[in-house]
Amino acid sequence: MTGPDAPPPGGPRAAAGSAHAAAEAAEREAPGLSAAGREGLSAAEWEGLSDAERERLVSPLADADERFIEGALRPKRLDEIIGQTRVREQLSLVLEGALRRGRAPDHVLLSGPPGLGKTTFAMIIAAELGAQLRITSGPAIERAGDLAAILSTLGERDVVFIDEIHRLARPAEEMLYLAMEDFRVDVVVGKGPGATAIPLQIAPFTLVGATTRAGLLPAPLRDRFGFTAHLDFYEPAELEVIVRRSAGLLGVALRGDGAEEIARRSRGTPRIANRLLRRVRDYAEVRADGVVTRTLARVALELYEVDEEGLDRLDRAVLSALVTRFGGGPVGLSTLAVAVGEEAETVEVVAEPFLVRGGLMARTPRGRVATPAAWQHLGLDPPESPGLAIPGSLFE
Ligand code: ADP
Repeated sequence: MTGPDAPPPGGPRAAAGSAHAAAEAAEREAPGLSAAGREGLSAAEWEGLSDAERERLVSPLADADERFIEGALRPKRLDEIIGQTRVREQLSLVLEGALRRGRAPDHVLLSGPPGLGKTTFAMIIAAELGAQLRITSGPAIERAGDLAAILSTLGERDVVFIDEIHRLARPAEEMLYLAMEDFRVDVVVGKGPGATAIPLQIAPFTLVGATTRAGLLPAPLRDRFGFTAHLDFYEPAELEVIVRRSAGLLGVALRGDGAEEIARRSRGTPRIANRLLRRVRDYAEVRADGVVTRTLARVALELYEVDEEGLDRLDRAVLSALVTRFGGGPVGLSTLAVAVGEEAETVEVVAEPFLVRGGLMARTPRGRVATPAAWQHLGLDPPESPGLAIPGSLFE
């Protein structure tokens, strides 16, 4: 066991090394990602893209290629994190306390919409503790045995990150209860009446769970997290700092007003800010002199259908269906999702939190409702009838 004053083992700082070179290498090694943007897209080419291809430019979700690039832009230590001040401070106390005591900190639950930094925080928790990190996700753990295999090979004070923890299968979830509380798993050997459960001691570890839908977590699981944090959308000023930092790492010539414009249209989401920066950079290199100014960012982002308020195609489709097809609501989530041709979960997790936060949509017991600002945003006149869309009359 390491004493309280001993330096953290392992080399988390080493990873922070030449982030710039790593970022460039990541871009080189993931050519599929920005090929379209690299060559520059004319309006006609943009029209020719499939919905899925366009969606990728503004979606807060990342695919495997993008996750790879993100690795290079990810802050590596707690003090490199921009924004989320309260979570950062609280977490720093939790980690510092645990380090001083020489023990594994409480299990941590991180919730919030995609792209706000849950994975980043999980990696930083391990780095700050000087601990090994094991990464998995709810859907990847199909059977309790998969989880047992991970837990039984943990070292003392390792960190386990389970993304989308609300999607864990029930038997795995139940195994996790015991593991989180008693650092023990029951491994079932054999089948049918002859099956026996063999208790297996596991090393004290810290679980970091991430979820976009905290409401779906069963209470017994939620209660076993000693520290719970909700990540909220970022302010434009914070995103501006993030965009500048990323531009530095990627070697993009970014003017102050260009950073401001990208930040304002990034939907409060660092992942989108970083992606828009890369797309605007493509545009600047191909169509201009490589320098990202406000004017250039505006033109490029219009091409990518990101509007002034940062609303993307899905946000606008949801708003427009709500307003024009359902007269402003109330309408149920699944009906709304069918109207825009999306999964209900995508509408709920991706579009809704941003629209609600921006005061464009509200959730009521009877369904989703558009606020007068939604009509205005779409360039329409809000209806006269008061009861419908007045935020004050909404359930909360
Ligand atoms: P999530 O797990 O919530 O979907 P990630 O942690 O993968 O989100 O973050 C997506 C990307 O956004 C990361 O690669 C990182 O570069 C960037 N990012 C997230 N939060 C921050 C932050 N607070 N400061 C700087 N960059 C951030």
